[in-house]
Amino acid sequence: MEKKFKRIGVLTSGGDAPGMNSVIKSVTCAALDMGVEVIGILGGYSGLINDRTKKLSESDVSDIISKGGTMLYSDRCDEFKTEEGMQKAIATCKKHNIDGIIAIGGDGTFRGATDLSIRGVPCIGVSGTIDNDITATDITVGFDTAMNTVLKLGDALRDTSESHARCCVIEVMGRNAGYIAIETGMALNAIGVVIQEMPFDKEAMFAKMIRMKEQGQRSFIVIVAEGMGSEFGEALTKEIEEKTGIEARFNRPAHIVRGGIPTLADRCFAARCGYKAVQLLLEGQSDVVICSRHDKIIPVDIKWALIVDRMYKNKLKDGDLDAFTPEEIEKMKALCKERHEYFVEMYEIVNAIGC
Ligand code: ADP
Repeated sequence: MEKKFKRIGVLTSGGDAPGMNSVIKSVTCAALDMGVEVIGILGGYSGLINDRTKKLSESDVSDIISKGGTMLYSDRCDEFKTEEGMQKAIATCKKHNIDGIIAIGGDGTFRGATDLSIRGVPCIGVSGTIDNDITATDITVGFDTAMNTVLKLGDALRDTSESHARCCVIEVMGRNAGYIAIETGMALNAIGVVIQEMPFDKEAMFAKMIRMKEQGQRSFIVIVAEGMGSEFGEALTKEIEEKTGIEARFNRPAHIVRGGIPTLADRCFAARCGYKAVQLLLEGQSDVVICSRHDKIIPVDIKWALIVDRMYKNKLKDGDLDAFTPEEIEKMKALCKERHEYFVEMYEIVNAIGC
């Protein structure tokens, strides 16, 4: 028999992202509209373990849609990975009559959601990460805002680079994923984009810079993904000066990119994901993450999502695929191919037109 939900919990966990508040708003208002109470859990899974909660009303969330960060705060909590921590979290759910949880975060957060789901607390994940590094979804909440922040910074750096005839190397966040780098590189007319996913022809970039300088070009932008390692960007900056004679400066916007006012795209995506998450949770679904595939909002089994991630990153372990049918494995492979083809296409364009 379908379980009747009276009260659900919502939390944000792991690295924060602009748009998390927009998801909280959507979840809260959708649930209340469906006649279900909402408990905000403060500080991610650590708030669940330590019983830090706050009942949410529509007015609590009415003005947060346009704010970066997360009104529920975020945290990393190793204790949640232990059975003892998990039992404390379950006890908090029982104490407050929380029938299910919507967990907003990245892949670590979804692992936690699976652990809770299999212990009888239904959970649904919603992405909240600027990195866009969840293979199962085309986009994640926070990604668009982060890119627009890099765009604003890059445009400003272009202005000063033009005045002083400089090259600006910008290292952008994204963990091991090059999504922010490749898209902002395209939008900023970068002469070079360096990401883990594709080989980088340094000498070709130097040669193009020299050629453009001879044509009278004064400013250059190079984007480096965080995944290249902490030393890479600065070393490349020095090498640009040595090899091209163009003065170069290194910039690391770092956490600035994680804050700020969520864009329209992020707010709308967050709203759709939050609403769908509540709908599915109340319908009895659990252990799924809300994804966007070709602009459709769909639930994806969390285990499937985590394994396809590993497949894409070439990190599959023995036995990872045992639980999946050949058709499901084919679907995973097709998705990995789609993601790879995206990078091939984007990289080809950036390298051809960036100057
Ligand atoms: P993100 O969700 O952004 O990927 P983390 O990887 O730091 O961030 O994960 C966020 C939190 O999710 C962790 O601090 C922990 O509480 C929980 N978590 C991560 N991995 C697991 C796991 N394997 N089992 C249970 N909980 C986990």
